[in-house]
Amino acid sequence: MYCKKIKVENFRNIEKAELDFSDGVNILVGENAQGKTNLLEAIFYASVGRSFRAVNTAEMIKFGEQFANIEVFFKDAKRDQSVLFRIFKDRRRIVEKNKLRVEKLSDIVGSFRSVLFCPEHLSLIKDGPAERRGYLDVAISRLYPMYIHALQNYNYSLKQRNALIKSAREDRSGFESTVELWNDQMAKNAAVISDMRYRYIKRAAVYVDSCFAEMTGMKDIPERPELVYIGSARLDGEEYTDRKKVYERYMELLSSSHNQEIAAGATLWGPHKDDLDIRLNGKSARTFASQGQQRSLALALKLAEGEICREEFGDQPVFLFDDVLSELDSSRRDYLINKMADKQVILTSCETDFLSAINNVRKITVKDGVYTV
Ligand code: ATP
Ligand code: MG
Repeated sequence: MYCKKIKVENFRNIEKAELDFSDGVNILVGENAQGKTNLLEAIFYASVGRSFRAVNTAEMIKFGEQFANIEVFFKDAKRDQSVLFRIFKDRRRIVEKNKLRVEKLSDIVGSFRSVLFCPEHLSLIKDGPAERRGYLDVAISRLYPMYIHALQNYNYSLKQRNALIKSAREDRSGFESTVELWNDQMAKNAAVISDMRYRYIKRAAVYVDSCFAEMTGMKDIPERPELVYIGSARLDGEEYTDRKKVYERYMELLSSSHNQEIAAGATLWGPHKDDLDIRLNGKSARTFASQGQQRSLALALKLAEGEICREEFGDQPVFLFDDVLSELDSSRRDYLINKMADKQVILTSCETDFLSAINNVRKITVKDGVYTV
């Protein structure tokens, strides 16, 4: 996938910009607060129809203006296409694909694919399990609509079951007569979710491992990452691919802990309690990895997301890397930039020293919302 051109109007501090990208490495360079991340945000928005940092749509519209426009021209494995988003202050939105109006966002999402890395993604390593479940959900949903379906059904059943648990203190018999129904719904969907999460992690682990081998292979102590699915059903790895077994296990867990759950006021078992254990040289990355190592891990997870996307769709997504190079030593930087040689990447940086070491890079200077090649 190759983002050829972007046209932006009234988006954040960008009054009007029209910019061509190369199909290799593009670097947006400029001082702080000039509009580097703003441009990445616009590209990302065109890819998924939401921002990675705006809480509400109106905040992305340039101060004092009524609407913003983002139009991206891209090429996938087959042909040239375009997407356009016009967002209004009152939250209305007009979406077009190849100049034709699109009513449902689902008709457009997935056509222009990107993978984003921003400093906030370090929370993938540093923060609690919810962050890692979120990473898995986004990555897997993009590949399999069936996963979205299972997740939505699961979340619905979980909500119903939790409400039922809360009502159990007053109405224990009502609880007992209905809970089995939700147990069954939850266990069925949990089996699908666990299976898909387990397989995705196994697939991603291969890329994360080779990424680290290349990045740190020459060091005295090469770094070996490990990704392990920690399913809430407490089964052994491969067992999660046996959906019948997972279903039965969850039925057993959900049926046998009623008193415990009523005391806790919530459902204690299920994929909403899963985690992805990220380790480096046998130790928890969350606790023991350095800043640079954590950044490398988050980055490797994102590269893996791109590789898996390529396997599924036949071409690489566009990589959007916000401020990824800081804190990386030269061997990691070299790896990243060389590794990127066969993909399109648009990255931001405040520094330019390393640019001379890269061939074929398009440098775009950013100053006050103006982009100059
Ligand atoms: P850094 O190197 O610090 O990350 P950056 O170049 O990535 O900087 P951006 O986040 O792209 O900076 O741009 C920040 C600028 O955009 C700020 O000056 C901010 O005031 C401005 N800005 C944010 N939202 C709007 C808006 N809705 N209208 C106008 N300007 C805005
Ligand atoms: Mg920035």
